[in-house]
Amino acid sequence: MPNILLITGSSEGIGAEAARLAALRGYTVCVNYRSNQAGAETVVADIQKAGGQAYVFQADVADEAQVFRLFRQIDEEVGPLSALVNNAGIIESQSRLVDMSAERLTNMFAVNTIGAFLCAREAVKRMSTARGGAGGAIVNVSSMAAKHGSPFEYIDYAATKAALDTMTLGLSKEVGPEGIRVNAVRPGIILTDIHAKAGEPGRPERVRDTIPLKRPGTAPEVANAILWLLSDEASFVNGALLDVTGGR
Ligand code: NAP
Repeated sequence: MPNILLITGSSEGIGAEAARLAALRGYTVCVNYRSNQAGAETVVADIQKAGGQAYVFQADVADEAQVFRLFRQIDEEVGPLSALVNNAGIIESQSRLVDMSAERLTNMFAVNTIGAFLCAREAVKRMSTARGGAGGAIVNVSSMAAKHGSPFEYIDYAATKAALDTMTLGLSKEVGPEGIRVNAVRPGIILTDIHAKAGEPGRPERVRDTIPLKRPGTAPEVANAILWLLSDEASFVNGALLDVTGGR
């Protein structure tokens, strides 16, 4: 039986590296994207070139109908899901809370929090031994921002990730008895395009000195932590929030 893994938002950055590494570890990988079709197709092509199995699925995780469609397509075209990485995430330009619009806040929570809840719900329906599934593992990609609060930059983003941490703790207790482990990684400053999307591509360099290891992290370093949490090596790890921050 193939080990089928869905990674939301895996057209670039941390999700793309997790997809590549998962395929090397023998997972059949479902690569999801919202708009970066070329990036997602490149990830799938790279995996296939290396002899792995991967499929590409477009869906906006913030849209419930699209999440239903995504999971149905995986059921029909790939097979029973055994692992989920809730990685899709957005950030907005740096701002103080007093200047944040309701539209920005709604969109931020819709993608980063509600999207992860919807995908976790659909995954649990399929994996739970209480519903005829074979068990599985979920990893939420949170952020150290959940602990720091990101003042003057993006308190909204930080709060969406704090909600993911709480979901990780609660859901791990709900579905642990049903054969599903739920954990989170909390990356610190990682070199991806997300900083440019927030309006400051040079942010990792600016804060370099605040990181005890004196450098930003890389997407493969976060991917390693995600794959470990999914693996049997982490078979007794449940409800953990694993900081991947270089000590920051
Ligand atoms: P990234 O390079 O900007 O990649 C984000 C990914 O999410 C893209 O593949 C994007 O796909 C996808 N995505 C965004 N909205 C989506 C939606 N509504 N539905 C489906 N997919 C969606 O960012 P990254 O740095 O790799 O971040 C990955 C995760 O790590 C995020 O949750 C982020 O918050 C978290 N994180 C990152 C850092 C860091 O320093 N980089 C630190 C802590 C936590 P499309 O472009 O196709 O829409």
